[in-house]
Amino acid sequence: MLDEQRTGLVDYQMLIGGEWVEAADGSKMKSENPYKGTDWASVPDGAEADVDAAVAAARSALNGEWGALSARDRGKLMRRLGDLIAERAEHLASVESTDNGKLYKEMLAQAKYLPEWLYYFAGAADKIGGDVIPSERPNFHIYTRHEPIGVVGAITPWNSPILLLGFKLAPALAAGCTLVVKPSEHTPVSTLEFAKLFEEAGFPPGVFNVVTGGPAAGAALSSHPGINKIGFTGSDATGRKVLQAGAENFTRVTLELGGKSPNIVFDDADLEAAANGVIAGVFGATGQTCMAGSRLLVQKSVKEELLQRVAKRARTIVMGDPMSAETEMGPMATRPQFEKVMGMLARARDAGAEIVTGGDASPNHDGFFIQPTIVDASENTDLEVVRDEVFGPVLSVLTFETEEEAIEIANDTRFGLAAGIWTQSGQRGTRVAHKVRAGTVWINAYRVVAPNVPFGGFGHSGIGRENGFDAIRAYTETKSVWTELTGATRDPFSIG
Ligand code: NAD
Repeated sequence: MLDEQRTGLVDYQMLIGGEWVEAADGSKMKSENPYKGTDWASVPDGAEADVDAAVAAARSALNGEWGALSARDRGKLMRRLGDLIAERAEHLASVESTDNGKLYKEMLAQAKYLPEWLYYFAGAADKIGGDVIPSERPNFHIYTRHEPIGVVGAITPWNSPILLLGFKLAPALAAGCTLVVKPSEHTPVSTLEFAKLFEEAGFPPGVFNVVTGGPAAGAALSSHPGINKIGFTGSDATGRKVLQAGAENFTRVTLELGGKSPNIVFDDADLEAAANGVIAGVFGATGQTCMAGSRLLVQKSVKEELLQRVAKRARTIVMGDPMSAETEMGPMATRPQFEKVMGMLARARDAGAEIVTGGDASPNHDGFFIQPTIVDASENTDLEVVRDEVFGPVLSVLTFETEEEAIEIANDTRFGLAAGIWTQSGQRGTRVAHKVRAGTVWINAYRVVAPNVPFGGFGHSGIGRENGFDAIRAYTETKSVWTELTGATRDPFSIG
């Protein structure tokens, strides 16, 4: 338990231009602990004026001390930040778990892994080389530069606030950009705790700014003419608004949105491993991950056996205090999310869905707990829980007879973030992986990410990719430089 929690509401300021400040109009908002159902922290409720101030601070750092640093020196600061995150991982995880109700052990694993993003991209900072382009004309020397795109607005969701911020922050800093971050109004605190490390690491003021606030602050950021790029993670509905808001200023975007990812189990799979993968894919993090394997596609001949294994394990999932090491599934992270999932379950029951297990709030817990739920949708493939992202512990089961049918059902969605394939045939695994329209495919595994592997979605799951060396490109503009070598006078009306 945090020391401050014992004394009541913890009061936070936000970071703009190296100063800890209140919102310009003095407004505050509260952050709720979803396990206890009580408010635990108070943060500034930022708005347009605060976004203006943060963007100005970020621009000033870009044009000042930060912009003048060499790429190698940027990398050194990033490594120091990575070390500080590793040192404070327990504290950051504890704050994050208190704010979003996800398991402490999961948030700790994320906080301990996050430094790898800083280290990987720190190493890349001084390797963002351009090309010398062979010229058709002997009198020209032509080369490209990849310059920082400028001031980046990062808008993050509540499920993994600082890890998903790291996906944007690390390549942006490596590229030489500065940032204004708007964390989710439901989980603003870990980003504020994280911001404290920047000063300690020695970053110049204004490189990293945080404006806490709700959708209005997010809208002010994404429509701001001083923002050159938005890195957004959240729902497809909000992603569309971000895209529309940025259109006015041709703001560059990377959008990481939702999913309805299939876990495809063939009859030659190791069913024990597949059952574990299915459980981890949809009940891990209480289903609140963009890459949740929320559709199980199982070959008809092994449906009963697999379903039995998955349902048996689902019924024994230990729910409870997210801070406890024994807990396997915490509550929903926010009250609105709890209500949204409960509404979807009620509509599924009304539509005659066959509920194999779960299907309701947990009778044994206060707070926003929902039972691990399995819906057999093999006879009812048009249910809302089959088509739309639930972002909760709800698995829809569909069946197929042939490989072609499996691919067809897997691709019958507007999303395309991830997919799992379970088979002991290497040929089949690879064949199907190439046909499924998804940004990430795991064969005999699920829910693995790394700083050096691109991550993002097809279709409504987003635009662009995070992670991987090329993520840096998304934070640069390419400039081509032509130098005429002879000084010869040219005909002013001829091109080329
Ligand atoms: P959300 O879209 O409601 O909110 C995301 C962020 O956008 C928040 O900070 C919010 O304040 C801000 N926002 C709200 N309205 C805005 C507006 N009009 N303009 C600009 N910003 C605005 O998403 P959420 O509920 O916080 O997160 C859950 C969603 O995030 C799910 O759909 C999930 O799949 C997705 N997600 C995707 C990934 C990924 O990497 N693809 C990872 C995690 C979560």
